[in-house]
Amino acid sequence: MNTQDVISMFDDYVIANYGRLPKVITKGQNNTLEDLDGNKILDMFPGWAVSGIGHCHPKVVEALRKQAGELLHIDNTFYTVEQGQLAKKLSERAFGGQCFFCNSGAEANEAALKLARCHTPREKYKFITAEKSFHGRTLATLTATGQSKCHDGFLPLPAGFIYVPFNDIDALHEAFDEEVAAVMIEPIQGEGGIHEATPEYMQTIRDLCDEHDALMILDEVQTGMGRTGRWFGYQHYEVTPDMITLAKALGGGVAIGAMMARPEIAKSLVPGTHASTFGGNSLACAAAIAVIEAIDEDKLLDNANLMGQYTRDKLEQLREKHPIIDHIRGKGLMLGLQLNMPGACIVSRCLEKGLRINCTQETVLRLMPSMTVTQNEIDAAVAILDEVLGEGDSE
Ligand SMILES: *Cc1c(COP(=O)(O)O)cnc(C)c1O
Repeated sequence: MNTQDVISMFDDYVIANYGRLPKVITKGQNNTLEDLDGNKILDMFPGWAVSGIGHCHPKVVEALRKQAGELLHIDNTFYTVEQGQLAKKLSERAFGGQCFFCNSGAEANEAALKLARCHTPREKYKFITAEKSFHGRTLATLTATGQSKCHDGFLPLPAGFIYVPFNDIDALHEAFDEEVAAVMIEPIQGEGGIHEATPEYMQTIRDLCDEHDALMILDEVQTGMGRTGRWFGYQHYEVTPDMITLAKALGGGVAIGAMMARPEIAKSLVPGTHASTFGGNSLACAAAIAVIEAIDEDKLLDNANLMGQYTRDKLEQLREKHPIIDHIRGKGLMLGLQLNMPGACIVSRCLEKGLRINCTQETVLRLMPSMTVTQNEIDAAVAILDEVLGEGDSE
């Protein structure tokens, strides 16, 4: 099979709901991908933020091999060691919360929204979310997503969602009333173009939620698991949320999502209110435990901080050279280059030269290297980007 054969197979048999790059990926090792033709690609956007500690991390692979020989899945009618241990590890790293496990970010947010409804009085049914947010593609989470392009074709949407401009404190005050069950935001908007919440904004959400008996939900699906240099994005702020949601990098490449809530809130999710058949199975939990252990043992939080700063410095140098870069945003290894023109063709040209990056919101180049990234890899990535941006300048 060659690349064209595979693409034809997709044309015939796979629903075409994604815009795909014309490459067939066969291997991923740490920060390098290999395609069907044997070409190597340096991956600065591994697995769309899923492969947070690189592709096929040896500790994750080893844990999966071991777990696969013992128990893949047992339903949540029983207890398992792995699910309990994973919940404990997450809890120890974030406000002593309790976990519900599922399989994706959308499901984790869905669980958070449902818990907010279960926990607060019946008349509270509204959710405040931010413009340019991204919370998933199920009906409730796409409604929570504050981007009308995601809503097109799906009206009428579930009731009760109110959108406010991100980081706008006055708008938040205005949107609040006694019917609000929860506020849900991302500490750093990912798909929205790498926009960080300000400390004042976070504090205002906390204060307003406390004042109105509403819950503060942070969607950490993209910011979680160390990418920003701390375990969770909220840990850069002085506030503690009531719930966080996780997915993407949690399983190191294996599908798993989690919703973590303060125990006094979590107790409202009683039997019959919510469930997930695959949620928290032994295989997925073993992978996530290995991810956490790898981050600890290999001191990857330190590396994320160090390499985050290094990448940022390198990108700032690029900005001085290429006026097409307006400015750079982000934290740790979650970085966005605001361009003053569309970035899609830059992404394709980088890929032709063996570098994978992403573009979001049309004009934001997004780099989310894994926490295992090295100086050499960043240098190589920046060199390719420099070359491609240079071509653009001369056109
Ligand atoms: C990717 C993402 C989601 C959705 O996760 P899925 O696993 O695709 O359902 C939700 N929130 C944020 C912040 C994300 O980045």
